[in-house]
Amino acid sequence: MPLGIVGQFVRLFRPRINAQTCLRYHDGANCNVCTAACPEHIDMHAPDATTALGECTRCGECAAQCPTASIALKLAASEPVISDAESR
Ligand code: SF4
Ligand code: SF4
Repeated sequence: MPLGIVGQFVRLFRPRINAQTCLRYHDGANCNVCTAACPEHIDMHAPDATTALGECTRCGECAAQCPTASIALKLAASEPVISDAESR
């Protein structure tokens, strides 16, 4: 069945990480919660994250389980996978 307008719009969104609050990026902690939560096993901190996110289903599990609420689904073209929100 072809995607409806809403379905096509949802596909434009991808999870994005706030580097200011992410434990792994900001504090160097060994946090792996978002990757472990992802049914597609996507590691958004990996060098190939942009490519890997092509498999993202927008299920929101990574955002739901992040202990610091550092992940939000945003328009894919709006910013890099990991963004330093306070420096923009
Ligand atoms: S779960 Fe949250 S804090 Fe942990 S690595 Fe992922 S984005 Fe960073
Ligand atoms: S939204 Fe779902 S599929 Fe996409 S990266 Fe997060 S957990 Fe994985």
